Amino acid sequence: MHPSAGQCTRDARDTAGSNAEVCGTRGALLEGIRGDLNSDILLSIAEGLDLVLISDDEVLVQFGTRSYPSELLRDSDLTGILGRIIGRLLQGPAHLSELLSNLRGEDRSEARTLIDDLRQGGILTDDRYSPVEQYLRYTFSGESRLSDRSVSLLGTGPVGAQVAHSLLQHGLGRMTLLDDRNADSLWYTFLPLGPEPGGDAGRSAHVILRDRLLAAGYSNVESLDAQLDAAGVEMAVARSDFTVVTLEQPHLRLAHLVNRFCIRDRKPWMLATINGNFGLIGPLFLPTHTACYNDYRTLADAATPSPEMARKHRQHILRRNAGSFFPGLPSYAEIVAAHASLAIVHFLLRDTSFALGRVLMIDFDRMLIHVEDVLKLPRCPVCGTDKSAYRPPLATSVSAPPRD
Ligand SMILES: [Zn+2]
Repeated sequence: MHPSAGQCTRDARDTAGSNAEVCGTRGALLEGIRGDLNSDILLSIAEGLDLVLISDDEVLVQFGTRSYPSELLRDSDLTGILGRIIGRLLQGPAHLSELLSNLRGEDRSEARTLIDDLRQGGILTDDRYSPVEQYLRYTFSGESRLSDRSVSLLGTGPVGAQVAHSLLQHGLGRMTLLDDRNADSLWYTFLPLGPEPGGDAGRSAHVILRDRLLAAGYSNVESLDAQLDAAGVEMAVARSDFTVVTLEQPHLRLAHLVNRFCIRDRKPWMLATINGNFGLIGPLFLPTHTACYNDYRTLADAATPSPEMARKHRQHILRRNAGSFFPGLPSYAEIVAAHASLAIVHFLLRDTSFALGRVLMIDFDRMLIHVEDVLKLPRCPVCGTDKSAYRPPLATSVSAPPRD
């Protein structure tokens, strides 16, 4: 369990019930959605939570066995309001007016406050929210901001197609696609539930994927009339809050281009690739706070056991550009895409992510997972002059004590 979540749960156990306080940063974030509780709202218990009525004044909230926001709600004033409200909601959704009408007149204002607190903590929800939004509300921040966020996705092969679909399922506001490679039979082979190969032969992968997502009911998807070159990358980075490069094989030139434009525009971006039998999720780059892609490549190249062979391979990769849509096994693309989507959702919701400045490396054959931190290089020629200011570990005024 996340330490702050544990702290929050302990606080909630102590102060639960009608006097419950929403703690920490979560409380601050929730302030923004206060004040829109009206009688017409149909309230229900959020999807995925188990609420156990222990007594009229005690309700156990469980998410799994111990995940946040599991906690014991207790009304220390023993008014019985908590038990009545939750008892009614356990039978099904109810309007606020109905919940209040079951109570004595003098209890209604306190009940309203309690319902408002539970709603802002995500435990009770407006019935109109999607199950994913309900989950995001109680797990992350009490609100779902994905609907006003945008992502540009470079590379719409098997990995990219799944990342695009997943992000839209999470409720992303707008998606921009760029991958002008022709959708060949290989592309169709790895598309989940795709048609027979050859249906749209000769069209760009990003156009076909866009049309398929539009046909699936996602209206907020566009493809750029551009290529995977400097002009296309510049346009894609400018279009969105976040850029993700999802290719089945490393594409060094593209990654360096995205790196330069994102440093210039101070925008976050992330890599998700397959490298042989390894899935690589991250790093997520946040200019100027994390290392840049050039730092990452330099460190990776420095650690290679045979620099001369690696150089030959690198020259080959530069010549072949994006390479094919082949991801290895279909499940490799799914694993990388799922982790990448989760890292992006975390970042869009909280401005941080488990992939920030780190690479998650999955060895598909041995079920081994490594996490590597990517360090900044001093004097990096790409981001060197843009790094956040250097702070010495001690103030420069610190000096050794005088000797006797
Ligand atoms: Zn750098």
